[in-house]
Amino acid sequence: MKEEKQPERMLSADYQKTLADLRLKVSQMAKQKDRPLLYHITTYGCLMNEHDSEKLRGILETIGYQPAAKEDEADIVLYNTCAIRDGAEQKVYGRLGYLKTVKRRRPEMLIALCGCMTQQKIVLDKLQKTYRHVDIIFGTHNIYMFAELLMACLETGEQIIDIWDKHQEIVEDLPIIRDNPYKASVNIMYGCNNFCSFCIVPYVRGRERSRPSADVVAEVRELVAQGVVEIMLLGQNVNSYGHGLEEDINFTGLLRKLEEIDGLKRLRFMTSHPKDLSDELIEFIGISQKLCPQFHLPMQSGSNKVLKEMNRHYSQEHFMELVAKLRKARPDIAISTDIIVGFPGETEEDFAQTLEVAEKAEFDMAYTFIYSPRTGTRAAAREDKIPDEVSKERFGRLLKVVNQNIHKKSVALLDTIQPVLAEGIGENGKIRGRLNNNHLIHFDGDASLLGKIVDVKIVKARTFYLMGELVNHG
Ligand code: SF4
Repeated sequence: MKEEKQPERMLSADYQKTLADLRLKVSQMAKQKDRPLLYHITTYGCLMNEHDSEKLRGILETIGYQPAAKEDEADIVLYNTCAIRDGAEQKVYGRLGYLKTVKRRRPEMLIALCGCMTQQKIVLDKLQKTYRHVDIIFGTHNIYMFAELLMACLETGEQIIDIWDKHQEIVEDLPIIRDNPYKASVNIMYGCNNFCSFCIVPYVRGRERSRPSADVVAEVRELVAQGVVEIMLLGQNVNSYGHGLEEDINFTGLLRKLEEIDGLKRLRFMTSHPKDLSDELIEFIGISQKLCPQFHLPMQSGSNKVLKEMNRHYSQEHFMELVAKLRKARPDIAISTDIIVGFPGETEEDFAQTLEVAEKAEFDMAYTFIYSPRTGTRAAAREDKIPDEVSKERFGRLLKVVNQNIHKKSVALLDTIQPVLAEGIGENGKIRGRLNNNHLIHFDGDASLLGKIVDVKIVKARTFYLMGELVNHG
């Protein structure tokens, strides 16, 4: 039998020492204050960012910080930012403005900023000029350095800025505090090489690099041993997984390895670029026992002209072919998508094609956005911008079409019995869970159900959630 490569452990002795030193420092500061030190993290953007925040929480809790109920009470406030749309950036500037007043009252409070926003030079210049009260600024490539940066800030009392323009190594074994004990996200790769003309991600997250499959398998095994039953594999373009690795493996090969892990019940992944979605993967989706019938396939536009200008490398015909193949391989599959409205130069005819494809594809979920120019991307330099009122009007029409389809898909589930992972208890006191196809559901039950996959009958269908009745909990 071929020997499996053992995962390389990258958490160095120096790093362990920094964590130990920080633990000591934090406990001394806590003694002086006569209370534990508190942290508060706000995360903007995608699942990738949420997962990075789990690592930041892991570092903070390892060195002795505890979660604060309110941001104002925290000793360190951290924003993990998103650069995909201008709206998310403006929210962060608004929060930083507010924190300036809090810091006047509590000058010892530390403010840290990381994530995609800080990787942009234009943002960094603005932060250095106007937001001098931010104590630590770091980027997407050195999340794992947070402990060192915090130590430097605590020791010197100076503002610490450390932004790298590219990734250096994939650091394994960072401490992680996960949001949910039953489901977990696992990075399989970082960065993106695609340079879609509207997207800032390749500039702020760097080029693609995959984690060795042995590291991914080891992490998933460990999570399953801790009681996790559902794994979400994360990557900007999971279909390119394996490129650049020494081992000969692709994404389907990785899925095959994960499928064999005993105790793992559900496997999901995102995101898949339509241009790289292979027949091999679709075939595996059809036979896998663990992959959930859910697929996120970002369409972005239904117009071939716009798709070309977006640098997407597929046509609406190819996209629809993929949708048909996925549904043939797995008739119960729920397909979700991303659609951008108001891309520069989008004509009424282009938009009509987007509407038509959205209607034909009958998406189970669609994340729709009005185009937001991102400085540094090719599309942002275009002068043929679409007026706001035109984009908004088109957006309204698109929303109507996609929401009608989503509602139709929800209604089709009525009276069926579906396996549901009971994930948590909602504010309404009901159990909150997810169907295999990722539909959100609420039903009556108690905490003993949490972490179990139970049978639930669908009794009410709303557009974005379902209500159910517990049928059997094994
Ligand atoms: S595939 Fe395109 S949209 Fe997705 S992260 Fe890469 S550049 Fe951005």
